[in-house]
Amino acid sequence: MTAIFQESNKSGLRRGACPALSSPMSTGDGLLARIALIDRISTGQLSQLCVLASRHGNGIIDISSRGNLQIRGLSDASARLLDQDVRALGLPVREDLAVEHPPLAGLDATEIADPRELAAAIREGCRGIEGLAPKMSVVVDGGGQVRLSNLLADIRLVANPHEEGGGWTIMLGGTEVSGRIHATMSGGDAVAEVSRLLKMLAAIGPDARGRDLAGALPDSTVSTEATPPFGIRPLVDGRSAVGIGLPFGQIAAERLRELCAKANDLHIDLVQPTIERSVLFLGKSQSCKALLDFAEQREFVVAPLDPRGAIAVCSGSPACASAAIPTHSLAAGVLAEFADLLDGSFKLHVTGCPKGCAHPQPSPLALCGTATGISFISGRAADRPFLTISRTETQSALRQLATFLKREKREGESSAACLSRLGPTALAANTMSGRL
Ligand code: SF4
Repeated sequence: MTAIFQESNKSGLRRGACPALSSPMSTGDGLLARIALIDRISTGQLSQLCVLASRHGNGIIDISSRGNLQIRGLSDASARLLDQDVRALGLPVREDLAVEHPPLAGLDATEIADPRELAAAIREGCRGIEGLAPKMSVVVDGGGQVRLSNLLADIRLVANPHEEGGGWTIMLGGTEVSGRIHATMSGGDAVAEVSRLLKMLAAIGPDARGRDLAGALPDSTVSTEATPPFGIRPLVDGRSAVGIGLPFGQIAAERLRELCAKANDLHIDLVQPTIERSVLFLGKSQSCKALLDFAEQREFVVAPLDPRGAIAVCSGSPACASAAIPTHSLAAGVLAEFADLLDGSFKLHVTGCPKGCAHPQPSPLALCGTATGISFISGRAADRPFLTISRTETQSALRQLATFLKREKREGESSAACLSRLGPTALAANTMSGRL
């Protein structure tokens, strides 16, 4: 066992740090180990990870909003065994700086450029830069059907279709919509520039993030968010990809193993956990269709407009020690009242505390657990609430708010636009008046 494992595990990670395979993080249900993959793996390997989650952890697997696998409920001893057993599988596990690209890179006829070579060059060229923030991330997005536009990134490189001979626009901080434009350059120059920017951030200190270099740079010109990866998409090599989501991002390892076994029966042999707490399986079109049907019967998220995919929910209690509430039962209550309003125009954020792990971006409607009740927020989880209610009032308040929104929503108006038009004052007043 490595010294890194022993040291980080003994001391625990500082808040905000990233739990890695060798540096599990303490949570409400034991240690949590994160397995970040930089490439596709076989369905057999994912199945093996499910077996390990049951053998060493509490049998619960999360897929984070960035597409990282998380195995929960580990002890000091079992986390060490998990580390050994995962390494024995020979998976493409990320060990250093997060340099992410879309999961269908190189297989997507609609992508502007294949980002894999550039991502690998950045990984290599920036290896060993010390003193960076633990969650520092670089996104290299070549465009295509499944984009990383909604992920926060310190440095984002986006393939630019207007540059002669190809080029990459470098952005700092935020999502693709909220980031700032730094420069556009060739892939070769971009590697050196990313390295220079990372060294600048390291020189500022371990809390410095990409937005700290954004200064007065111009805003992004992008205004639309990426579509979720659920459903079937054709690939350039004649195969298809089928995106299947975990309801609220969490599942019993045995259920995920069952999905892998079905994929295996259908000769689907490649899989990648990915954004939106989902997995992308790659195989023949008919096999993907059959797997999608199977997943639908087993109540996975299979369609872009499935309302469960429109709720961003963190682990909550008891899994997270910081959580004031069981977020998954609150999300189920939200679903019961809001299903018709979850039209894909926004993510309704349900969070156990103001840290807002599941959705760091602002949301037109966020519900945050407090010591005594639930706060309603328009913005980030840590922003000032426009309303706070006691727990016993939760369901009736949700029903009242949903009824108000359904009544006020105009023909052709999205729910996000409706929430924004009405504003926090009207939302608060009508959530509290004449509770149903
Ligand atoms: S946001 Fe949720 S998962 Fe994150 S620390 Fe708070 S309660 Fe825990």
